[in-house]
Amino acid sequence: MICYFDNNATTAMDKDLAEQMLSLCTEEYGNPNSIHSMGIKANKMLEEARLRVARILMADPREIFFTSSATESINWVLRSCISFRGKRKKVVTSAIEHKAVLNTLKDLKNTHEIDVVEIKPGRDGIIDSGKMLEMVDEETFLVSLMAVNNVTGSIQPFEEVGKALRSRGVLYHVDAVQAIGKCPFTPAEAFCDFASFSAHKFHGPKGVGITYVKRGAPIRAVVTGGGQEKALRSGTQNVPGIVVSSIAMERAVDSMEAITAKLKGLKERLKLEVERIGGVVNTAERSVANTLNVSFPGVKSEVLANALSNDGVYVGISSACSSRNDSGQYVLDNMGLEAAIASSSLRISMSKFTTVEELEILVERLKKSVSLLKF
Ligand code: PLP
Repeated sequence: MICYFDNNATTAMDKDLAEQMLSLCTEEYGNPNSIHSMGIKANKMLEEARLRVARILMADPREIFFTSSATESINWVLRSCISFRGKRKKVVTSAIEHKAVLNTLKDLKNTHEIDVVEIKPGRDGIIDSGKMLEMVDEETFLVSLMAVNNVTGSIQPFEEVGKALRSRGVLYHVDAVQAIGKCPFTPAEAFCDFASFSAHKFHGPKGVGITYVKRGAPIRAVVTGGGQEKALRSGTQNVPGIVVSSIAMERAVDSMEAITAKLKGLKERLKLEVERIGGVVNTAERSVANTLNVSFPGVKSEVLANALSNDGVYVGISSACSSRNDSGQYVLDNMGLEAAIASSSLRISMSKFTTVEELEILVERLKKSVSLLKF
């Protein structure tokens, strides 16, 4: 039995959607830009998917663009904003953004004369909106803030920041990748100009990103070519992936309340068990129900994660010792957590598929491994 607790890294698809995708790849595989009837059918499905996403986000379908990943969506938005900054030089963001944001801004800083201000969170992993807004001045052309942190699950003040930025003439991007199906999110309530999403985080396939661009917000193409997606993101659209992603998004948002109620119960139980084994909880109360970041001081994250993996239990780690590029130790470091806590942390992230039985196995194997490995 697979006990999968790494849903912030990626999620499993619903079987019926994987089957639908297969049939779209093998039977109804027309190019949506072809003029014959197979192309027209593919285009109709593509536009229906766009409409579905727009409806879920309470947006206009003309504001929805499909890309290959949230990383691409984020790169597109941040790189495009450079063209509209005039003489302004400053970007304000948080120090706990995903590397898709932080490394893109780093690259832009190396290639353009811009200053990037990274606001650190409190010990709870949450950005103080006042502190962030204090840094926004007449030099600022862009603010980028995540809705939910991928390492701790903490919910960031993306709505407060958006509300305060209204009519300040500053562009505002929200990385909403970890929000869909976990906490309410609409671009209108976030008062943002841009938002980025990723289908594989809400039981859609890998390789589908979504960019929200508010009507009238300045945007330029970063990927140029055949003129797809209103010439703003060229490249033949991944129709099978996009169609099932839109359905996965609808399911995630429609079932959010029920799934959250179930996961809240599992999270509370997990918290108690972790503390019983001598662990420390790093995730704040103001967090999504599926994520719990915990530490077992004295046991290195990767050693514990490997021991669990050998036992068929899969969790995420945030340790810098990981050679993988999804290491999130900088998030815990920026929260001001002690090195012993940051280097021994595990990210346990659940989904609608997580069962009580799986949780019991996780707890039992955690107990076993922690007692064996603790020195
Ligand atoms: N932003 C956040 C908060 C994420 O958690 C991730 C993925 O882990 C990304 C962006 C990048 O998403 P993608 O895998 O679609 O490029």
